[in-house]
Amino acid sequence: MKHLNKFSIGVGDRFAHQATAQLQACVLAEEAGVEIIPVWNKSNREHTIIGTEPASVRAAADLAVAQLGWNHPYFCDADHINLTTVDRFLPACDFYTIDVADFIGKPADPSSLDHFIHAHPELVGIIPMHATGQTIHINAEMLRNTAAKFLFAIQEAGKIYRRIETEKGKGEFVPEISMDETDSAQTPAELLVILTAIADEGIPIQTIAPKFSGRFNKGVDYVGDVAQFAREMALDISAIQHAVTNYGLPANLKLSIHSGSDKFSIYPAIHSAMEQFSAGVHLKTAGTTWLEEVIGLAESGGEGLDLAKEIYAQAFDHAAELCAPYATVIDIDPAKLPAPSELAAWSSTQFTGTLRHNPKAATYNPSFRQLLHVGFKVAAKMGPGYLDLLEANQDIIAKNVTENLFVRHIAPVFLGQQHHAS
Ligand SMILES: [Zn+2]
Repeated sequence: MKHLNKFSIGVGDRFAHQATAQLQACVLAEEAGVEIIPVWNKSNREHTIIGTEPASVRAAADLAVAQLGWNHPYFCDADHINLTTVDRFLPACDFYTIDVADFIGKPADPSSLDHFIHAHPELVGIIPMHATGQTIHINAEMLRNTAAKFLFAIQEAGKIYRRIETEKGKGEFVPEISMDETDSAQTPAELLVILTAIADEGIPIQTIAPKFSGRFNKGVDYVGDVAQFAREMALDISAIQHAVTNYGLPANLKLSIHSGSDKFSIYPAIHSAMEQFSAGVHLKTAGTTWLEEVIGLAESGGEGLDLAKEIYAQAFDHAAELCAPYATVIDIDPAKLPAPSELAAWSSTQFTGTLRHNPKAATYNPSFRQLLHVGFKVAAKMGPGYLDLLEANQDIIAKNVTENLFVRHIAPVFLGQQHHAS
C-alpha cells in the first residue's frame, strides 16, 4: 500500500541533475527531527518542452536515494495528467496528480446531478466540523450550483483514476486531484461538496489541490490577503477532516499547495494551521531548483556566469513565446527587465543578487526572476552546452539547491523557523 506521510515536499528537477541535492534537504529536515517525504514531480508540459521521458525522473530519484541511503518512502509524480497524457507515466510513476481543471463548469448528466443532490441532504445547512470546531454554511442553491459546476470534472477524474488503477493496481499509487490551474478559487464550502463527490466516485485521494484565493505566481512570493488565506486554509482543513470522518476518504488526506515555492509571506500561516489542526501538507515546488542552477552557474563566475547571461539574453529575446504557456501564473513587468546588453558588465554578485529570492535585497528583481523561471526551454535547447557546465560546477550548484529548499522552504513551513534574510 502506497501511503503518503503527513509531511511531504514536491520537488522539480527539470534537467535531472539535482535529485541528490534536493534529497539532502530532506536529510537535513530529518536531522532537525521532522520526516519530510520527497516527491519528484514533472509535468507532461515540462517533459514535452525539455524532450524527456518520465523514466528519467525515476532513474534520478532512485540514484539519489541510493547515494544518500534514504530509508523512508519517496515518490515520482505524474504531474497534471489527464486521460490523454497519463499513459507514458504509468511505468515510472507512483503518484498521480489528476488534473480536472479543464472540465470544471462542464455539465454533468442531469440525472447524476439530481442523484448526488438527493443523496446528500446533510450538505444543506450549518454543518459543524467536529474535528476543528468550525462550521461551513451551504444552502440548497449553493449545493446545486456547486455540484453543477464540479460533478462532471469529478466523474472525469474517476475515469482517469480507474485507468491508472487498472494498470498499477489498487493501493499501488498515491492519487491526488488538482483544480488549481483554473480562473477562480474554490471556497471551503465548495471543497466540502467536491470531496463528497470524490468519495462517491470512489477515488481514494490522499491529497487535494484546490485553487486558493490570491496570486500564486511561479517562483515569487504570494500576492494577496494573508489573513484571508489563513482563514480559508483553516476551513479547507476542516472540510478535509470532516470528509475523512463522514465520507470515508483516506485518513491521511491532506492539502496539496501547488506553485508552493517561494510563498514566503504565507508560510507562517501554513505552519500555524498545520500545528493548530494537526494537519499535514504537501508543499509543491518545481522550477525553484532550475533557478538555483542558474544562480550556481552565475556564482561560479567565468564560463558559468557567461552562460547565465546568455540564458537571460535568449529568454529576453523569446519572452513572449516562453511566457505564453504560463500566462495565468506569472506577472512580469517588461519595464523592469534589464536589456541583455546591460548584463555585460554584471559581476557574479550582481547577477545572483538580482535573481536570488531575497525579498529584502535591494537588487532582487521579481520580473527578472519570473522570466528566467519560464526560460528553462532556452537551457534545454543548449543541450550539452548547458549540462556540461552544470556538471563542472555541481558542488556550488548543489549547495544552492539544498540551501534554498531547506532554509527558505522546509524550515519555515515544516519546522516553523522563519528565515531572516539580510
Ligand atoms: Zn498545479
